Amino acid sequence: MISSRLRDIPPFIVMDVLARAEELERQGKPVIHLEVGQPDFPVPQKIQDAATQAVARGETRYTPSLGILPLREAIADHYAKKYGVQISPQQVVVTSGTSPGLLLVLSSLLDPGDEVVLADPAYACYPNYVTYLGAIPVRVPVQSENGFILDPQDVRRAITPRTKAILINSPANPTGAVLPSEVLRELASLGPTLVSDEIYHGLVYGAEDHTVIEFTQNAFVLNGFSKYYAMTGYRLGFLIAPTEFVRPIEKAQQNFFICASSIAQWAGVAALRENHPEIPQMLRTYDERRRHLVRRLRELGFIIHVEPRGAFYVLADARRFDVNSYRLAQRLLEDTFVAVTPGIDFGPGAEGFLRFSYATALDKIDIAMQRLADYLGDVSGSSGSSL
Ligand code: PMP
Repeated sequence: MISSRLRDIPPFIVMDVLARAEELERQGKPVIHLEVGQPDFPVPQKIQDAATQAVARGETRYTPSLGILPLREAIADHYAKKYGVQISPQQVVVTSGTSPGLLLVLSSLLDPGDEVVLADPAYACYPNYVTYLGAIPVRVPVQSENGFILDPQDVRRAITPRTKAILINSPANPTGAVLPSEVLRELASLGPTLVSDEIYHGLVYGAEDHTVIEFTQNAFVLNGFSKYYAMTGYRLGFLIAPTEFVRPIEKAQQNFFICASSIAQWAGVAALRENHPEIPQMLRTYDERRRHLVRRLRELGFIIHVEPRGAFYVLADARRFDVNSYRLAQRLLEDTFVAVTPGIDFGPGAEGFLRFSYATALDKIDIAMQRLADYLGDVSGSSGSSL
């Protein structure tokens, strides 16, 4: 008999879309992937070299559960240099990606019945971590008309005596919204601990990213190497925690994960300590794709209420084509072989929207847009109504 905890956990729909897209590809269909949140760039050369050298040096054993000291120091230095905040390497715990980091942080904070305030829409997995731990996600709608920016007054109204944390993500998946520093400051003043997923830091276009630690010490930071350094498969991330939480988190890591990959950790040191000429070019390419995708989607009749300022997604209002995002995404995949993520994956607030990832080459984005133009144009033209 399957436990209720796992029987009831919702799938991460985008992974289901990916699986179906790959099945179609195996049948020879020319699928274009605009669904996955995975950079299409290679890992910068010096990082690859560091991983290879770590293997050659025999750095292939367990490391301390908190992570290797050179990496924890490099992370603390990075936060000092980039944001001007002083954190001790002792507050840094290296994890096998941001995802296990989220589990460790939320496990250290939540008891059954506790509440966590988070945006709607937000990264699909957030509410599932909370529910898995027996706690309750309390969703605060963010409006496309307001740039999908979390309103601290709405958050204040959602706080109850059971609220343990406010979970934020800027730049945000799926909206691309970047929280301005005034909003971060106000959120930090509300009282509950802030848990800040900073995984898209660095991927900003004309906006500034701020760490939550600039505004409060009552905070946890989650971050990782998957997005900015395109290291999804290395499985490397970290968390920064208030000192008293480090030992409990260390114990959980010892029990459940032992440690992050030693090879990936040495690659992480190179990521933070070396210069990577590939990255400025990568950022320019993302920005070019972002502008192009926004323009093309608008031409097709999607509504982009506010242009995304960070990450690599466009959340497009598709309600004029179909109010049911799951059905629309499914039909686009089956009929045009363009894979996108239905907004409903990110919460009821994104129903009727589709998330397009621009972590895919411009020429492929163009082909996908042409297919959508033919399909959506045809369908609305022939039936005179939505799909
Ligand atoms: N947080 C957000 C907002 C994400 O979009 C993702 C990946 N899609 C993650 C966390 C997980 O990343 P990682 O590869 O570091 O586990």
